[in-house]
Amino acid sequence: MAYGKFAEVVLDIPLNKKFHYNIPPSFVNQVEIGKRVKVPFGRRTVVGYCVGLTNISDVKTLKDIIHVIDTTPILSSKMLGVAEWMANFYFCGLGEALESFLPSVVKKGIKSRTINVIRLCKDGISVKEMISTIKKRAPIQARALEALAEVGEITFPELANISKCKMDSVNRLRDRGFITLDKVEVSDPLFAGKHFKKTVHFSSTEEQEVAIRLIKRKVRERKHSVVLLKGVTGSGKTEVYLQAISEVITLGMKAIVLVPEISLTPQTIERFKSRFDRVAVLHSSLTERQRSDQWWDIKNGNADVVVGARSAIFAPLEDVGLIVIDEEHENTFKQDTSPRYNARDVSVVRAAYENAVVVLGSATPSLESFYNTEIGKYECVTLKNRVGHKPLPRVEVIDMRREIFGGKGQKPISDYLELSMKECLSKKEQVLLLLNRRGFSPFISCRRCGFVLKCKRCDISLTYHKKKEAVICHYCFAEEPVPRECPDCCSPGIRFTGFGTERMEELIRARFPQYNLLRMDSDTMRGRDSHEKALSAFRRGDIDILLGTQMIAKGLDFPNVTLVGVLSADTIVNLPDFRASEKTFQLLCQVAGRTGRSAKGGKVIVQTYNPEHYSITYAATHDYDGFAKKELEYRKQLYYPPYGRLARVVLRGKKDLDVKEKASNIAEKLMNAIKLSDGSLLAGLRKDKVGVLGPAPAPIVRVKDNYRWHLIVKADSFKNLHTILKSIENENRNSKKVQMMIDVDPYMLL
Ligand code: ADP
Ligand code: ZN
Ligand code: ZN
Repeated sequence: MAYGKFAEVVLDIPLNKKFHYNIPPSFVNQVEIGKRVKVPFGRRTVVGYCVGLTNISDVKTLKDIIHVIDTTPILSSKMLGVAEWMANFYFCGLGEALESFLPSVVKKGIKSRTINVIRLCKDGISVKEMISTIKKRAPIQARALEALAEVGEITFPELANISKCKMDSVNRLRDRGFITLDKVEVSDPLFAGKHFKKTVHFSSTEEQEVAIRLIKRKVRERKHSVVLLKGVTGSGKTEVYLQAISEVITLGMKAIVLVPEISLTPQTIERFKSRFDRVAVLHSSLTERQRSDQWWDIKNGNADVVVGARSAIFAPLEDVGLIVIDEEHENTFKQDTSPRYNARDVSVVRAAYENAVVVLGSATPSLESFYNTEIGKYECVTLKNRVGHKPLPRVEVIDMRREIFGGKGQKPISDYLELSMKECLSKKEQVLLLLNRRGFSPFISCRRCGFVLKCKRCDISLTYHKKKEAVICHYCFAEEPVPRECPDCCSPGIRFTGFGTERMEELIRARFPQYNLLRMDSDTMRGRDSHEKALSAFRRGDIDILLGTQMIAKGLDFPNVTLVGVLSADTIVNLPDFRASEKTFQLLCQVAGRTGRSAKGGKVIVQTYNPEHYSITYAATHDYDGFAKKELEYRKQLYYPPYGRLARVVLRGKKDLDVKEKASNIAEKLMNAIKLSDGSLLAGLRKDKVGVLGPAPAPIVRVKDNYRWHLIVKADSFKNLHTILKSIENENRNSKKVQMMIDVDPYMLL
């Protein structure tokens, strides 16, 4: 029911603005906050969200709402609050923020698919008689009847397959009154035919007990709070989540569990399904039908627990008591298109609206979350030991500068790693090898003139993919034939250097021909279930060596893996990104955590050209606190997060000069917002705490024929950062010549 003459409507555009529309008398009882409406916008009709009702508008001639889509509000007032926060914090449109709340299949609505079910007519004559009456004149129909008689009921495609009949034969049979044809709605249940054996609580370890008690108490208090669960790999964090959720359900509330997409395996889902009855799952590999069913199940109150990837933070649950973010440090919680939100941070805001508890779990927490425990904003509980006091694996660092083939260049596999692999494999144990670079060779150059082959549209060197016989840009995915001669000097001496997973696979197969190797990267794992199939094969022991990119580093729990080899620890450490050390440390700890999970123990070998780098030395001693202390010092010195706060503004367009000009123009506006008229800086800050870095060409200067310039805005707090960004809030972001993108709290700086 509308209390107000006008509706405030937001649209999916990068502008934080509410548009007023007139509510025609026929819709007065239908327009409500949280419902979707169809409205005219320019020359088009678009879908928007009603976010408010008002009696006052300074617009003279308001247009009418054309249609009200929802019968009940699809978004609660709490969720609208979360969206408002997102729009303000990330500088996106409120409509853009709301767009990500509903899965696209829910927005467009799913058409029910029906299928013909064919049944034998039971009354009247027997099948034998039917067949004998038509056998001569209509042999195909007779054959179809015979097939049907065996099962009694069948779908048309199945029948067509068995008896090679066409739809006309079926129609004739129906006309004769021998069969019936019914349209039945196809369902696609997510857990069809699956049985989940119920499990009960483990008797928790002492450390787990402390964590569980703390979280349960916070849940009972129903006060907003955040707990960081800092637990080494294999310390049983999931068991802590499960027991905390069980308390939430007992109290009649609900829980959301976010895990990185790659960890959303059937095993993970099973751990929740086998403990709780009403679990819904939201992730990208569901079919549209399943996603829609799951979402509506949640919306209709049929789920107590939602397990999902990033966007499950918007799950339409009521009465949320607990939100768990597993592997909270993962970059995948940050969305890299607008709205550029981080689900971890959104979870804290949503929990504030729900008076709920947030548990952030990780073996290697983000420095932001760790810092928040240091200053008392979050509480921290630690699981120092693995379950059953199994020791963390020994980590050995190999200095690759010393591994040289008698003067003929670098070795990709050190003698020590090769020897350790032999030893491990001969005991029928398994090896995990991490190489965070796909393709055959990441670097193609000319022996004569040194020309390096780059993508024609991006400023990125191309990677040679052998099986595809192509060179591919890993940025825009453009493919080109492999050059036979240098494009610059026409010399035939093209050289392929460096190792990607494809080349490493060849090399290892050649050295370990008697063992089974599986390569796992985004080139080999294209199918819907390929990831899962590969892991099952590895679990069964059909595979001895699993070689892969970082997709093998996360969450796997295989007791028979006793050796982990990191072929190059240096793929991230040298990137121009202030989080490069943190990311390196996290990846090494994660992959190291895949071994030593049984009584057989485990060992990790890290190959690197930077053996003294602190991200590697601290990872080798499993010393998170040591790393965090050192890294925080560095961040404090340069005033990077979590001390300073950053936003990145990227401008791109076809003409470098236009982009450069726009970038300077934006920089000037931002600087004007920082430098006050009396010569002082915003909020009395010193020059090292607030400012604009750039404009400069982005580290990747060109992507898909677009030139890119960027600026980094730095301030002491998000509040001041926002004040500065306000000065460019109303710039046209989608101009034809130059497009602008604002990323608050960026995770990608390339
Ligand atoms: P993490 O997520 O911290 O790496 P998991 O939750 O995956 O660790 O637990 C590691 C293993 O220990 C799992 O196989 C789990 O079933 C087992 N486990 C967890 N808690 C207990 C417990 N209290 N007693 C026995 N086994 C446990
Ligand atoms: Zn050349
Ligand atoms: Zn490219």
